[in-house]
Amino acid sequence: MDNILVTGGAGYIGSHACKALRAAGFNPVTYDNLVTGWEDAVKFGPFERGDLLDRARLNEVFAAYRPVAVMHFAALSQVGESMQAPGKYWLNNAGGSLTLIEAAAAAGCQRFVFSSTCATYGDQDNVVLDEQSVQLPINAYGASKRAIEDMLSDFGASHGIESVIFRYFNVAGADPEGEIGEFHQPETHLIPLILDAIDGKRAALTIFGTDYDTPDGTCIRDYVHVCDLVDAHILGLNWLVDGKGSRAFNLGTGAGFSVREVMERAAMVTGKPVPCSEGPRRAGDCTKLVSGSKRAEDELGWRPKRSTLEHMVADAWRWHQSGHYAK
Ligand code: UDP
Repeated sequence: MDNILVTGGAGYIGSHACKALRAAGFNPVTYDNLVTGWEDAVKFGPFERGDLLDRARLNEVFAAYRPVAVMHFAALSQVGESMQAPGKYWLNNAGGSLTLIEAAAAAGCQRFVFSSTCATYGDQDNVVLDEQSVQLPINAYGASKRAIEDMLSDFGASHGIESVIFRYFNVAGADPEGEIGEFHQPETHLIPLILDAIDGKRAALTIFGTDYDTPDGTCIRDYVHVCDLVDAHILGLNWLVDGKGSRAFNLGTGAGFSVREVMERAAMVTGKPVPCSEGPRRAGDCTKLVSGSKRAEDELGWRPKRSTLEHMVADAWRWHQSGHYAK
């Protein structure tokens, strides 16, 4: 069985990717420092604790497993925090990725599947965002991810690294079989916060900004189910194994939902109202981020199956109520 090094495999998306990799016949080796991940989410392959900035530890792990590819999820990912503490984002995301890419290149591991973000596009005033859109991030999180895309491209030219770059829109939902799900500490993402407010784990959801230039004044995002998202990663890995070369793909559905629409849908699915209050805008938030590309469908053959708001909220709600949160 081929080993795949999964950085951030103890995190939300990384753990779902490990499950999909195992089902696809790969051995996912999680490399994670457990700063934002959870050891009990590592269920589908070996665990190696380590930091992206620790080159000696990375060398050891590459030598021990000789992975045929890296799936690189490990990152700090909060837009708001990145505006307060940009240095953390540049050091962990950009600096850590540089260390990882150099270690991979030195070990002769030349395939990367990289989790980038629609935040690399920035705020483009309602234009359709496809892979050719100019990348003008407006927050340090997006800027650090764009820098990593550039690194992968440069190491492609110098060291033959081939990369599939996935620019995620908003990832939501949980494993429908209930083995893993989303748990951030602190939680900052909309759907888990809505569910917390619904079942009284927090007082109310604060809507960040009601004066955006959108039909109901709240921000619009394109939500994609985590299981559909990781399915695309398996297709991306196979794309590299088949020698098809470096390529960037958006992962979104092309449908945008406002914060208020997500709240309404969550109330419908759970049968409970969402306690909420209106607050000011959050620094770094774009008005509207909707994927306008069919490239992943046309070229990878990606077919999202569970990316309706109903499925995403229902799967997240089942996980939320299951009490399976990592301790
Ligand atoms: N949001 C909100 N209240 C919250 C958290 C998020 O109104 O407590 C909004 C946020 O401003 C954005 C959307 O929900 O418009 C999605 O935010 P999230 O943090 O989930 O993902 P992001 O788009 O920042 O990656």
